[in-house]
Formats: sequence, C-alpha cells, structure tokens
Amino acid sequence: MKILEADFILTCRDDFEIIKDGAVCFDKKIVDIGKAEEIINRYKDATLTKCGENSVLMPGLINPHVHLEFSANKTSLRYGDFIPWLNSVIKNRDDILQNGGEECIERELDSMLYSGTTTLGAISSFGDDFNPCLKTHQKVIYFNEILGSRPDTVDVLFENFKSRLHQSEENKNEKFIPAISIHSPYSTHPILIKNVLDIARRENYLVSTHFMESQAEREWLDSGSGDFVEFFNSFALNARPLSSALEYLELFYDTNALFTHCTKATNDEIQKIKELGGFITHCPVSNRLLNSGRLEIENIDKDMLNLATDGLSSNISLSSWDEMRAALMLHSQADIDKLSKRLLKMSTNYAAEALGLNNGVLEVGKDADILVVKLADKLINDDLATQLILHTKKAEKIYINAEEIL
Ligand SMILES: [Zn+2]
Repeated sequence: MKILEADFILTCRDDFEIIKDGAVCFDKKIVDIGKAEEIINRYKDATLTKCGENSVLMPGLINPHVHLEFSANKTSLRYGDFIPWLNSVIKNRDDILQNGGEECIERELDSMLYSGTTTLGAISSFGDDFNPCLKTHQKVIYFNEILGSRPDTVDVLFENFKSRLHQSEENKNEKFIPAISIHSPYSTHPILIKNVLDIARRENYLVSTHFMESQAEREWLDSGSGDFVEFFNSFALNARPLSSALEYLELFYDTNALFTHCTKATNDEIQKIKELGGFITHCPVSNRLLNSGRLEIENIDKDMLNLATDGLSSNISLSSWDEMRAALMLHSQADIDKLSKRLLKMSTNYAAEALGLNNGVLEVGKDADILVVKLADKLINDDLATQLILHTKKAEKIYINAEEIL
C-alpha cells in the first residue's frame, strides 16, 4: 500500500470537503483518507511519499468529450459562427485528418496526461484514434460515432458503425470502454439513431451526442429555416429537418446519455434531459469560438453538468485547467470561488458520474486515480479552488489505478 501526504486534500466530494495536512492511503482503490498523522500511524507498513510544500492531492481530471482525430488543426478553420465553421471543417477535413495521424494523437494524449487528465471520453468519427486510445495510460470511454442523414447511405453507415463498435468491444478492458456517439439531431438519420439506441439499451452502452449548439440548429429543427437551409440544399434539394428537438430527445428513453453544448436548448428540453436521467457537457471555449452563446449554467442542476474541451477543431488546448480558466472568464457574473469549486467538481466528480465510473472523488472505495499538484505559492486565504484553477498547468505526480505514471 502507498500513502501520499500533502498540505491539502481536495476530495471533490459534493460538499467540497478539504482536508488540511492530510493523507490518502491506497492500493488499487482508496483504502483510507484523513489527517496525515492518523493515516501514517494506522498503516505503518505502507510506502509513504511526502508531497512537500504547497502540495494538493486531488482526483485525476476527467474530460468527457474530445475529438482526437481533429488534433492537427491549428489555423485551418473559420470561427465566429457555426455554419461557416462547419463548412470550413468539411473543406479542410481530409488535410486535418491526414496530418493528425496516430503520432499526433499520441502527442495530444500525452499532453492531456501531463496536465492531469486521467480519464477521457473520445468521440471517434472514423476510428483513426483507436490504437492511440487503446495504448494510452489514461482510462478511455471510446464513443464510436454514427453520422449521416442521406437515406441511400443508411445501410452502409450502419454496417461501418457496427464493425467499429465490434472492434472496440473485442479490445475492451478495464481502461478502454466502448460506447456510442450519435453526432447530432440535424446530421443523423432517424433510422440510424433508432438502431444504435436499440443497441445501447440492449448492451448497456453509454451514449454521447451534440445537442442544440447553434442558432442555425435551433431554427432548422424548429421550422426548417435559417442558415442550415442553404447548407442542406447543397446536398439534397428540398431538405427537411429529420425531427424536432424534443422528438429527438424522446428517442433516448432508458439510456445513459450525455448531451454536449445545449447552449440553445429550451427550459423544456433541459427538463426533458433531466427526466431522461441524462447529463449535460459544457464546452465553454468551443461555444465562444463558434459564437454558440453562453450556457446558463446557473439554471442547470449542479450534478447534471460536466466540463469538457471538445476537440482542437474548436479549441486551442485539451487541458481541463485551460477549460476551467476559460469558464471562469465566460461566466463573468458568477461568484468566482463558488464557480471555481463547481468547475473542479464538473471536471472530476460529476464527470465520473456522467460516465458511470468509480473515480472522480477522493473517497474510500474509489479507484486510486490521484493527482499531486502544487499551489503557485503559500495559500493565505481560503480560496484554494480559485488559486488552483488560476495557476495550475500540470500535475507533479499522476496515479491511475494506484500505478504511478512517470
Ligand atoms: Zn464535439
């Protein structure tokens, strides 16, 4: 058994308990947690590591929504509005995917790891991220995505999806968990949605989907109008929306699902997601770059909400620390320390709950996914959450299932 001793233990429990001069004793799971003196006395045979001045122990960060296949993008895409961005993705996709091969994805996974991300939800559109996700140190929920709205392609797309899902199922292990992603209500044919949700219910797969990310999506699903009219008519004449937003949500009955963005969702739709037992994934940088609007997080139940970076197609970083800093700036009306505490829980505890994992909190019985981070200087006030978010760029030590990752 191992013991880590630190100045502060940030449990990231619902009550945001902080233990000063604390220690965590762990095997593969957390065995005990409390005041350092007591823990060290209680487990005399355990290997003790003192983490030093200004040290903080906290759960490993969880980033539940990232598109690794778009990792090569730097300056190729147009920001400021959704449809011009989407057109630029379609136009430059082949180049970005080609430059973003396995080596590039491995680099990004490493850099996420060093920042302290020990679990991620990888939204996989093509399977190009399969090998890097299988090999990486982190825990990966691997969301095989289905996307396509043309009726004549439904069968081919479904077969392709099933073969990717099958491949990830064959390679399932305790750190690589297959799951399902449905791209969005405007881009995926209802037959495909129904088929993959049937699989999700039958095989108990977690589901992730983009939902209500833009004004264009709102207008298209509400009335078949807005900026999507021209976009879809360039593929097929007289295109119509495939379902309303609420009809789309109703398809998710009896599933465990994460709905990403939701900046343009109505109160009724948020309420419907709650009734479904679903979760909302908030990506503030992506929302800002695509002018998607601000998600009114103050009107959403705390434990429904988690924080993610989205991909480098709509971000400049896959670090959850960078995302938390951006969220602090975006939600400028909020009390800074209360928001900081909430963001830390959204990046640990509530993300773990949404992904159905036994980590995200430092508590007896949880997986020993633990970070050692350092405060920039001695803490004078009681604003640990804020100071940590403002200054932290990387983890000093990283443990996943108790194994130290060097
Ligand atoms: Zn996304």
